[in-house]
Amino acid sequence: CGIFAYLNYRVPHTRKEIFETLVKGLQRLEYRGYDSAGIAVDGPRKTATDINNNSICLIKKKGKVKALDEELYKKDSLDLDEELNTHFGLAHTRWATHGEPSAVNSHPHRSDKENEFVVIHNGIITNYKELKAYLITKGYEFESETDTEVIPKLTKYVYDNKEKDITFSTLVEKVIQQLEGAFALVFKSRHYPGEAVSTRRGSPLLIGVRSEHELSTENIPIQYNTARVQEKNSHNRPDCSNGINSVGNGSAVEYYFASDASAIIEHTNKVLYLEDNDIAAVSGGKLSIHRINRQAGEDPVRAIQTLQ
Ligand code: GLU
Repeated sequence: CGIFAYLNYRVPHTRKEIFETLVKGLQRLEYRGYDSAGIAVDGPRKTATDINNNSICLIKKKGKVKALDEELYKKDSLDLDEELNTHFGLAHTRWATHGEPSAVNSHPHRSDKENEFVVIHNGIITNYKELKAYLITKGYEFESETDTEVIPKLTKYVYDNKEKDITFSTLVEKVIQQLEGAFALVFKSRHYPGEAVSTRRGSPLLIGVRSEHELSTENIPIQYNTARVQEKNSHNRPDCSNGINSVGNGSAVEYYFASDASAIIEHTNKVLYLEDNDIAAVSGGKLSIHRINRQAGEDPVRAIQTLQ
């Protein structure tokens, strides 16, 4: 029912601060109603800047956000003072549509016991039964009764059968082509440390951006087509025919993904509303939006607006 996710890129935070940000985000969404809540964060790292080979840790709880909050501090394996220079954390409040309220049915859901892909979802996947039956024939074992669980498992299935070097964004694009129904989704993966992907169809999702560089529609560091970093304030607009452009120039930046502006507004007033089937991806601190049916000259990143 409520989505909140927070990516800090080159903005150091302790694990405790990240927990606090995630919990506060969920508290702002509590008014929407929910029956359970959960988060995903990185497990212990070797150093603050080491984002590779980390594990993903899921903490889920039936009941109030307060109960989840208390649970976060019970994990002895998670050092609260550990510094996480770049990190992506997910948080979710669930209003059950498929499967009773319980810890195992709470989000995030996962691809497998190694938490290779984890997903939070608002909405309903109407063709989940067919997808689940197919994935079971491929050897996947389901742990929850939700419609949502097919999404991380399908993601792993596509990933394991991928062409070489598929980007996280392209992977998610292939996954949502198989989904019917309504969704706002945020993905996190051990295979793409420090990266985020988010998409929606029929359920709302917006992204807040906070950068040390002032973001305005005049001077957003935009990037089309390639992963190349483009100069800030550049007025040379390369070809944008494949529908990808981005914001961020590799310097410190924070991104907030939420189902409702109320969870973002205290952090930043610069927001971008995703349209149906948009795929937003953050990699190397840069946000890019892949809009499949983009009109010529249309520029999704330019749609960043300032909330009053
Ligand atoms: N259909 C999903 C479930 O039952 C998501 C519900 C929601 O939007 O909270 O878990």
